[in-house]
Amino acid sequence: MRLQILGAARQVTGSMYHVDTPAGQFLVDCGLYQGQDHPRGQNRRDFGFDIAELDWVLLTHAHIDHSALLPRLVAMGFRGEVITTPGTADLCELMLLDSAEIQEEDAAFDLKKWRKHGRHGPPPLPLYTVEDVHKCLRAFRSVPYNRTEELARGLSVRFRDAGHILGAASIEVWVTAAGRERKLIFSGDLGSLGQPIVRDPQLPEPGDIVLIESTYGDRHHDPYAETVARFEEIVERTIAQGGQVIIPAFAVGRTQAVLYELANLLRAGRIPEIPVFVDSPMAIDATEIFRRHPECFDEEMNELIRSGNSPFSFPQLKICRSREASMAINDFTDPCVIISASGMCTGGRIRHHLRHHLRRRQDTLLFAGYQAAGTLGRRILEGARYVTIFPREHHKVRCRVEMLDGFSAHADRDELLAWAEAVGSGAEAIFCTHGEEQAALALAEGIRERLAVPVHVPEILDSFDLLEPRADI
Ligand SMILES: [Zn+2]
Repeated sequence: MRLQILGAARQVTGSMYHVDTPAGQFLVDCGLYQGQDHPRGQNRRDFGFDIAELDWVLLTHAHIDHSALLPRLVAMGFRGEVITTPGTADLCELMLLDSAEIQEEDAAFDLKKWRKHGRHGPPPLPLYTVEDVHKCLRAFRSVPYNRTEELARGLSVRFRDAGHILGAASIEVWVTAAGRERKLIFSGDLGSLGQPIVRDPQLPEPGDIVLIESTYGDRHHDPYAETVARFEEIVERTIAQGGQVIIPAFAVGRTQAVLYELANLLRAGRIPEIPVFVDSPMAIDATEIFRRHPECFDEEMNELIRSGNSPFSFPQLKICRSREASMAINDFTDPCVIISASGMCTGGRIRHHLRHHLRRRQDTLLFAGYQAAGTLGRRILEGARYVTIFPREHHKVRCRVEMLDGFSAHADRDELLAWAEAVGSGAEAIFCTHGEEQAALALAEGIRERLAVPVHVPEILDSFDLLEPRADI
């Protein structure tokens, strides 16, 4: 029985783990690499296992660094099932179709260049197409939280609430091998306590082999209440200066969290009644999907709905679906809030807003989530004075730049350590994945201080015998 790390090793994108058991083979997640540190070719590499032998993909959640290589896997011959929660399955339809459209647009652009520059090599093709996504979606099967599902004799799974985004799960897997039952736990991305909308992460019961994410393995978030207080202060100050607040936000999860807090602040009269633009068709669709999954909501959210309030809409909200509506925001000069995607400024409409607002001293660019190495968001956050948004266009950064870590949909160091202690105290091995090297190593060190369990920070392609993991560590 072997585990191989095929992505998110000492970095945060491209999540993929392969497990070979006597009852069958499965992947946990099948994610895309993102960011400029990853040439597009990296997503076209060989999967590193025989696709025909793969029986299942267990999907922790819909973010594309966890899900968006699935259409390619199916296009290359995967005939098994993708098992996930109902919320994740619904969100995947939206996110994978969007991803395919981007792939097709990128390929069309590359094809033009290829024709112009002498047609060297084979013509560029999209990583996958919209049609591939439809085929992939037919492979999905939903299993609700907390139900133990036997996939085959000697192999069962259960999804536990990971509190990260709608439908996100930690996955427990029971495998019988060599006459013994082993329990594997994959944390998925873990949410932060007290985050709005979704419930707090559920603690799986302890397991033998534990994989834990480490995005914020070396950092602490401000308590959520402080984050909301600072958010209010930043919005107020910018409005008082006659400026606009630009928030790059993941379309799924972060946008809804920011809307939820803005609705609260407006309802309570704590900020002036300014327009709030949501400029991302995907964020608008995702918000609709959130409404369809009340089974994922926390108590506060349910209470809000019972009291007749709508958590994601308010009179000042302006939804911009069309390109024209998006462009019209540029003509609006009064104070306002603009929420747009992508969250790390790597693509999407946010780039057009940056082009317009970076030079305006009175405006605030407010990051509401993690900015991975190599992204435009990270460069601005690290204080770049000039940035390139589109080729051959350099923009001076004059606006105020703020970061609110507390809006993050990820657990911080203390929360990760608490999770590891609860779940991994009797484990044979713990693996820290899904974190940049420094964060993953720091979390591993923290776990070693607390538990007498071998803790490992794997490299890409490392492989472990799950019956004797210590021998490979
Ligand atoms: Zn995620």
